[in-house]
Amino acid sequence: MTPLIFVTGGVVSSLGKGIAAASLAAILEARGLKVTMMKLDPYINVDPGTMSPFQHGEVYVTDDGAETDLDLGHYERFVRTRLSRKNSVTTGRIYENVIRKERRGDYLGATVQVIPHITDEIRRCIDEATEGFDVALVEIGGTVGDIESLPFLEAIRQVRTERGPEKALFMHLTLVPYISAAGELKTKPTQHSVKELRSIGIQPDVLLCRSEQAVPDSERRKIAQFTNVSERAVISVPDVDVLYSIPMGLHAQGLDDIVVNQFKLADKAGPVDLSMWEDAVDATLNPLDAVTIAVVGKYVDHQDAYKSVGEALKHGGLRQRTKVTLKWLEAQELEGSDMAALADVDGILVPGGFGDRGFEGKVLTSQYAREHKVPYFGICYGMQAAVVDYARHVLGLEGANSTENDRQSPDPVIGLITEWRTASGDVEKRDDKSDLGGTMRLGLQEQRLKPGTLARELYGKDVVEERHRHRYEFNNRYRTQLEDAGLVIAGKSMDDTLVEVVELPRSAHPWFLACQAHPEFLSTPRAGHPLFIGFIRAARERKAAGQPLAEAHA
Ligand code: GLN
Repeated sequence: MTPLIFVTGGVVSSLGKGIAAASLAAILEARGLKVTMMKLDPYINVDPGTMSPFQHGEVYVTDDGAETDLDLGHYERFVRTRLSRKNSVTTGRIYENVIRKERRGDYLGATVQVIPHITDEIRRCIDEATEGFDVALVEIGGTVGDIESLPFLEAIRQVRTERGPEKALFMHLTLVPYISAAGELKTKPTQHSVKELRSIGIQPDVLLCRSEQAVPDSERRKIAQFTNVSERAVISVPDVDVLYSIPMGLHAQGLDDIVVNQFKLADKAGPVDLSMWEDAVDATLNPLDAVTIAVVGKYVDHQDAYKSVGEALKHGGLRQRTKVTLKWLEAQELEGSDMAALADVDGILVPGGFGDRGFEGKVLTSQYAREHKVPYFGICYGMQAAVVDYARHVLGLEGANSTENDRQSPDPVIGLITEWRTASGDVEKRDDKSDLGGTMRLGLQEQRLKPGTLARELYGKDVVEERHRHRYEFNNRYRTQLEDAGLVIAGKSMDDTLVEVVELPRSAHPWFLACQAHPEFLSTPRAGHPLFIGFIRAARERKAAGQPLAEAHA
């Protein structure tokens, strides 16, 4: 039985419960333990794949193609364990499983109920995801008091009652607000939140107190008394400038020892080595260089929608002690503008996206970067925009488009495979009622890189793996035409059928690379990602050479 740390939240959401949990996981991993993490989300969607990034932030994709909560991205950036579908479970998934079993007759005539059938299914999913590890962290989405999280809390209560404190630990994260009018930190919301938890049978072992400043010992003592949590287990988690400093803050207060002692893991757990995190913080705080990267997207007021892209850019900078400042630009606002918003940046990234709003702005952005010789990194929709720009403005196919935006396009250079693969060569009409959930090319796939290309040089090998999440593809019927016009096809699927990476030759542009997959999902602060590292290096070179670099290459 894997010892489980259940992480719940109180008072308000968005306190960084996932990051706090991932930071503890990172420390435990740094002590030599085999750690995994999972997220239980109380909403009814079967997965977040169909949810608007406005509401829910990025949809994070795992190796096996699961569309998951963005917290799984934090988990994979903090711990080495690769996660899968099993590590992201929603109420919708639980009910789907239970209803399928009920229809199959598995419950043998019983009345199917929340307790025990739903709670049993939750527990089965927890065991399935955590089996075989030294320790696992299980985060419950939402906050205590939400009606919809009750079955999850009931399930974890049962686990603790049956398995005892050596196999289950409750960690509760709350807010300790500072009331400036009174000049005081207030512990009452924390007291209430714990009271609420206790009313459903859960007594926390550890409290993580989120606050602007460190919570002083006097207040920690007070919280301990009111909540029946030992004083040393009341941990202060103040706001930080550098995300990756949180493991050090938690370790300094002995949080990992509390876990190791309660689970009696002292034999397995070695001394901690947090040097990797210390290096990341040091490189962030003491950069030797700085660049500004424009990210041209659709949800720029809601940067959680591009969480992994933002992190991967920073990782790319970390590896060369370079501070990366992000300039978020709304693609739609560039349409019809003079593109002056892009004049002062050192590199331009167009991330993934869906739908026609802003797509023309992305095409213009790609054109601008190509013509002005600004380093350009296109990801997924950003690659499709680059192909459309090239077809329109270099090949002269004025009506070129993706069929996602124009089904009547005379030159659908990007389309659904089913469209561009018709034997007659005609563009088939898309079925308007096609299912938006579950029809995408998803997850980790291999691709082969072409010798001599920028991509091949950056990755340093011929065959690489990246995660995908898209429906549309580069239309092979335009491959030869585009290649003849100078576009380099630098990566293809292993069976040669799908274009994975396009670039401009280095004689024509200092750094222009666009890929169909999402490399940001595989970037970690430990290693960074070769494409992001290369992109930031190109941005630095442009900056070092001054703007005339563009002209010099012309
Ligand atoms: N909308 C495009 C497609 O479905 C791109 C998707 C993406 O950028 N993730 O192919």
